[in-house]
Amino acid sequence: MTSFTPRVFSGIQPTNHLQLGNYLGAVKRFVEMQDEGMETIYCIVDLHAITASFQEPARLRHATRELAAAYIASGLDPKRSILFNQSQVPQHTELGWIFNCVARLGWMNRMTQFKDKAGKNAEKASLGLYAYPSLMAADILAYHATHVPVGEDQKQHVELTRDIAAKFNHDYGVDFFPETEAIIEGAATRVMSLRDGTKKMSKSDPSDASRINLTDDADTIAKKIRKAKTDPEPLPETVEGLEDRPEARNLVNIYAALAETTREAVIAEYAGAQFGTFKPALADLAVEKLAPISSEMARLMDDTAEIDRVLGDGATRAAEIAEPILAKTYDIVGLVRSR
Ligand code: ATP
Ligand code: MG
Repeated sequence: MTSFTPRVFSGIQPTNHLQLGNYLGAVKRFVEMQDEGMETIYCIVDLHAITASFQEPARLRHATRELAAAYIASGLDPKRSILFNQSQVPQHTELGWIFNCVARLGWMNRMTQFKDKAGKNAEKASLGLYAYPSLMAADILAYHATHVPVGEDQKQHVELTRDIAAKFNHDYGVDFFPETEAIIEGAATRVMSLRDGTKKMSKSDPSDASRINLTDDADTIAKKIRKAKTDPEPLPETVEGLEDRPEARNLVNIYAALAETTREAVIAEYAGAQFGTFKPALADLAVEKLAPISSEMARLMDDTAEIDRVLGDGATRAAEIAEPILAKTYDIVGLVRSR
């Protein structure tokens, strides 16, 4: 077995504003992995953003820059990490095509996210939405990334990435692509909607009240938490008491992740508390942690030319890693590159 240099890759789609689940489940971990000194590559996956619903071009452009600002405001350093948007590095789509020819329809048909997003009207979904996980495999494997920090909902796509890598290696008799590992850690790997504790919080949910956006002001955050759906019981004495209470569990998880502590510690502090006490405490904590990020984002958005410069520089550095991997892939496959 070839041993691969540890390398972290992950991405977020510039659909709408970043929400709390993206921050707690993904970006916060991105920053930690960067600060642990790993080689880190973080992408704004704009080509994935156009797979779902129609994206208004001006909004897509704005969301791309705003996501770059959110990355930087959350602590990603464009010098220590490579930050860029996917469409500026064509190696992703080139490798993505090869992986479309490796992945099997049967595998794609098992992807739960496609089913969720396409809904009842799958015939009307784009071909891009269906192929999305194969492009995601290319995003990761174009860098031979070994670790992918993601939220719980992306686990299946990282598993598909491993299947694609394994089939490619097997078909061509090589040991070229690594077995990538999903890193799903922390108290908030699956933040739920504030309106429905059985549904994941998402940027693209039509209900703005279902989520906290990183761009929300303090009053909006407090109001959304106050109105969050809960049951009438006080918080339980033990973590096990949260089991059949998805909304209560969600708020406790969010609190624990924001406070960088455990669910157990939160329950120990708030055992028996009513939501009338717990919700304001959670709102204060959320504002305390998110306000500095949102004000820094706003400051960075005053200079979009600088953001574009950072993304361009990141794209150049990303392509320097991806190009030799793509060239070698072409060679393995037998695609002639004579220039
Ligand atoms: P969309 O609705 O457009 O799919 P999204 O909110 O699901 O948006 P993505 O861009 O698909 O965001 O995902 C970015 C990262 O955030 C992924 O690592 C994903 O696993 C993580 N993530 C998304 N939603 C949550 C959530 N509710 N809790 C924890 N992590 C999440
Ligand atoms: Mg998503």
